[in-house]
Amino acid sequence: MLSIKEYLRPDTLEEAYDLGKMENTLYVSGGLMIASLKSSRLERLVDLKNLGMEEIEDGKRVKIGANVKLSEFMTNPLLSSLNHGFFKKTMKDVGSTQIRNMATVGGSVAFRLGWSDVITALMASKATVELYEGQLNEVSLERYVKEKRRKEIVTAIYIPKNDRFLAFEKFSKSTFDIAMLNVGVGMNIRDDKMSDVTVVVGSRPMISGRIVEVEKFLNDKELSNSIEAAAQLMRDTIKVGGDVRVKAEYRKVLSAALLKKAMRGIGDES
Ligand SMILES: Cc1cc2nc3c(=O)[nH]c(=O)nc-3n(C[C@H](O)[C@H](O)[C@H](O)COP(=O)(O)OP(=O)(O)OC[C@H]3O[C@@H](n4cnc5c(N)ncnc54)[C@H](O)[C@@H]3O)c2cc1C
Repeated sequence: MLSIKEYLRPDTLEEAYDLGKMENTLYVSGGLMIASLKSSRLERLVDLKNLGMEEIEDGKRVKIGANVKLSEFMTNPLLSSLNHGFFKKTMKDVGSTQIRNMATVGGSVAFRLGWSDVITALMASKATVELYEGQLNEVSLERYVKEKRRKEIVTAIYIPKNDRFLAFEKFSKSTFDIAMLNVGVGMNIRDDKMSDVTVVVGSRPMISGRIVEVEKFLNDKELSNSIEAAAQLMRDTIKVGGDVRVKAEYRKVLSAALLKKAMRGIGDES
């Protein structure tokens, strides 16, 4: 059972970071995952709402403040139109309307959930993460999720602005259920030829990560002729585990099937 003794709402990043460094303390953004924690050691919550971090800024890349809700990816004109409408399509597969109205992009990234659809989708887009740890730093999302959690505050996510085609596929028992596996694919495509390919798989059940062997195989090839071979390579090389929900062998089959679906989707769109 949770037995929170203090609920703090600092007004500055510096103050929040200093408070966050205290023992048995967690930051809160949307609060959805915090609400389901069972730790009795947790004593203090530091609410990040007063820090703003709600901006969506257009430029050479798009800056999305950490407190921006997932629903904004579907409704904000800029976010919903990025990469041929990728985020608008993808976010509808994340939880429900109520969840998306509460969950923040910062909380979704910082929690580093192994089954996160948000991390898989953002990683396929080559997003980077801005962090405050006494000073602001920026790292790739790919690197960030591999790092051990510290007391850093995620302040923003940056999405590169480009014309890459992106696709996301998820397999779960129902729309609201968490993914048994999810796949994100990104690429440039010209005259059916692929370049700058990213292939990301999450819920394996470990944290989302790129499948570099498949990416290398696909670069400079024609999309329409490479789907079957890429799917076979995915199945042969991907490292997956089993858990109560899915056996490892089934996850391998899913990874190949979802990759095919994602690539076909990009083929139809491009
Ligand atoms: C019922 C349910 C269904 C869901 N379904 C899906 C789904 O289908 N797909 C999917 O991808 N996700 C799903 N999620 C997860 C959701 O997308 C978010 O990942 C989750 O709600 C975390 O966001 P939050 O803003 O609520 O974070 P919080 O609960 O506030 O915080 C989560 C963690 O991150 C830390 N944190 C929060 N903000 C920051 C910050 N700015 N900097 C540093 N640390 C921070 C907190 O200390 C805490 O440890 C689901 C969640 C629920 C409850």
